[in-house]
Amino acid sequence: MIITLKGNITGEQYISLIGRIKDRGLEPHIDKGSSKIVIGLRGDTSGIETGYFMVDGVENVTSVSKKYRLVSRGSHPPDSVIDVSGVKIGGGYFAVIAGPCSVESEEQLFAAAKAVKDSGALLLRGGAFKPRTSPYDFQGLGEKGLELLVKMRDKFGLPVVTEIMGIEQIELFRKYGIDMYQVGARSMQNFDLLKALGGIGKPVLLKRGLSGTIEELLSCAEYIVANGNPNVVLCERGIRTFETSYRNTLDLNAVCIVKRDSHLPIIVDPSHGTGVLEIIPPMSCASVAAGADGLMIEVHPDRSKALSDPNQQLSPEEFCRLMKEIPEFVKARRKIEKLRKASGEDR
Ligand code: PEP
Ligand code: MN
Repeated sequence: MIITLKGNITGEQYISLIGRIKDRGLEPHIDKGSSKIVIGLRGDTSGIETGYFMVDGVENVTSVSKKYRLVSRGSHPPDSVIDVSGVKIGGGYFAVIAGPCSVESEEQLFAAAKAVKDSGALLLRGGAFKPRTSPYDFQGLGEKGLELLVKMRDKFGLPVVTEIMGIEQIELFRKYGIDMYQVGARSMQNFDLLKALGGIGKPVLLKRGLSGTIEELLSCAEYIVANGNPNVVLCERGIRTFETSYRNTLDLNAVCIVKRDSHLPIIVDPSHGTGVLEIIPPMSCASVAAGADGLMIEVHPDRSKALSDPNQQLSPEEFCRLMKEIPEFVKARRKIEKLRKASGEDR
């Protein structure tokens, strides 16, 4: 909420208003820089009508009413840590999810999973149900893909992340004990699916829509949390802009804004976010610098044969090289965060 004061507010009225704010457990942030004094309220204002602060000396009160509440930083100041079958993400825990765009065969997934494991990544990804632009493109192996993912999970000890496209697939995902349900960019606003994922008791990886605003992304996360599942990890995966030099514009601003406005972890997918092989490594490192809690990277043992996204899947060697760099960036960021905290600087 934002309270704008009248120019002629008396000292008594001012003191009384500040008391009223503090009585509700809120912190007033006073901005005297503009022509009028404006007070921003920090804290949980849910359940307080704007009229409560419309007292003598106040010109107006506006509610910067958020479309999300439970996922907001205000409602839960510390970072949330999401546990994906033993792998933690957020609140200082950094995790890399990697694997092929699509599960194509046992040999392909085995080779990819081996590279993921050997490189030190903690979670295996792979699409069994693929959202493709053309109905004539490879649509994924379906149930067989889930079966292979689970087989590799058991072989390599890597919890698996895979995309769910509709409510009707929940039963199948349950049957295979999928560790993390991915909601793809094209499904971000499938509200019925989001509501249903509120009841699954497994973590959800919610990807940002192609033209989804940050507020929309957080509101979609709110659907899942408000329906009973607090285990949501957000994913920045690039948005559609006028730029055509790459597949999507990786919006790293979003990482900083989400960290400011929400306690949920956010990871970055530089594979879909760029669609350009050679800029995946630098943008991965940039994502870490921006504050990401993890990365999701596509890895294929032989991308020349990939049935989807052949231009953005790292080879095992390329991925291993990148995985040697990432911890250095994570370490550097932690050091800088510590220094900032020690000097009392804000995020
Ligand atoms: C994916 O991660 O497999 C995928 C299809 O990504 P997005 O939904 O971000 O396009
Ligand atoms: Mn892909």
